[in-house]
Amino acid sequence: MAGSTILPMLSEFDLIQEYFQRPHHATRAALGIGDDCALIAPTPGLQTAISSDMLVEGRHFFAGEDPLRLGHKALAVNLSDLAAMGARPVGFTLALALPAADRAWLQGFSQGLFALADAFNIELIGGDTTKGPLNICITVLGELRPDQALRRSAARPGDDIWISGTLGDARLALAGYRLELPQPLDAASQRAAAVRMHTPVPRVELGVLLAEQGIAHAAIDISDGLIGDLGHILKRSGVGATLDVDALPAGAILATQDLALRRAYTAAGGDDYELCFTAPASARTAVLAAAGSVATPVTRVGTIDAAAGLRLVDAHGAALDLRLSSFDHFTS
Ligand code: ADP
Ligand code: MG
Repeated sequence: MAGSTILPMLSEFDLIQEYFQRPHHATRAALGIGDDCALIAPTPGLQTAISSDMLVEGRHFFAGEDPLRLGHKALAVNLSDLAAMGARPVGFTLALALPAADRAWLQGFSQGLFALADAFNIELIGGDTTKGPLNICITVLGELRPDQALRRSAARPGDDIWISGTLGDARLALAGYRLELPQPLDAASQRAAAVRMHTPVPRVELGVLLAEQGIAHAAIDISDGLIGDLGHILKRSGVGATLDVDALPAGAILATQDLALRRAYTAAGGDDYELCFTAPASARTAVLAAAGSVATPVTRVGTIDAAAGLRLVDAHGAALDLRLSSFDHFTS
């Protein structure tokens, strides 16, 4: 129809071809999008690391969220799991339920997704697309040498506990959106904190180095809050820990807030996507050198103990009773 601005309806297959299939981008897959399965030629001698993470509208992000940021975050949280295992990313699949084939949304989403994929030189190799409530599930594939995985079960008494980057700004942004803060943030601070919530940077280079150089013992990425995620390492390793809460590196905006908020959101914030890892005290120089070589700040925040339980202490070593808990989707 002359003058019409209505675009032709997108079919499922047009949509995949237009927004997700990039014929000139094949790097690792022997066969990418378009057949019943993708085919990957594994690197001889390496193990494959596989992980999935799902983002659900209304649960992990607000309705109406900017699609570009969603594309970034959906892949970033998955790459963060590879980082925590010490695996090099290879490729990923995307299972997508969409309420409508909206071109503007698909354009933004695929742009955010592929910008991060290209930054790590990884390829979208397949997926599934259906109509439904907005739900984004990515599965990432990575590779690593056998015996180099940074398992949750590998922490040993006497290990140092380290954190990459800073914690708590994502949680601070969420509290700001929810009007939960005693003193609301000014608009610039809210925006700056929200960058950490919407566009986390997965610590892939650091995780890979810690694994490949045999520096770290155990690692986990911090998605549900440090205390809860460190708790997984402690449980699986059969150990305890002492955590210096006041040594936890606060995000730039959280650092301007009062002590109680800093303690709460660094220790049990969530959505940080930093690495928490353990390494023997003899590896301190190696940890700092590895982190420096990939321009990732790291901070030593505690020690693994033989005695079970997590002891929170302040800057003077005095016990803190913070009654903090981590995020749980079925109880929160
Ligand atoms: P099948 O019917 O066998 O499940 P589909 O028709 O769902 O296959 O998908 C056709 C091809 O497009 C497959 O290669 C599949 O991996 C790919 N694909 C479907 N959805 C996506 C998506 N969201 N992102 C990337 N590839 C996709
Ligand atoms: Mg399918």
